Amino acid sequence: MTVEEAVEAFRNLGAALIETIRPLADAAGPYVAQLAEAARRHRQRCLCLCGRSHPADTGVCDGEMVTTRHYDSPGVGPVDVPLCAPCATAQFFAEAT
Ligand SMILES: [Zn+2]
Ligand SMILES: [Zn+2]
Repeated sequence: MTVEEAVEAFRNLGAALIETIRPLADAAGPYVAQLAEAARRHRQRCLCLCGRSHPADTGVCDGEMVTTRHYDSPGVGPVDVPLCAPCATAQFFAEAT
């Protein structure tokens, strides 16, 4: 497993945890709900590995998730990685050329 895959695994673990605690957060009042909302927003950041996915355009990321891309990672299993519009486009061009 590479460092990047380990980071990816950690992030997806975090996302799974957020889904698990969401019903608890709803029951526990506004403070916890706010935390869950912040975590949810954090999850919707672009998690593109720009240096690996589109090395020719590493500066384009604007961080705002607009879509997800499905990967079958050997170390992590199937994951849906949030992507911003510039990264999704850059990945498309990186793979098309
Ligand atoms: Zn990117
Ligand atoms: Zn991006």
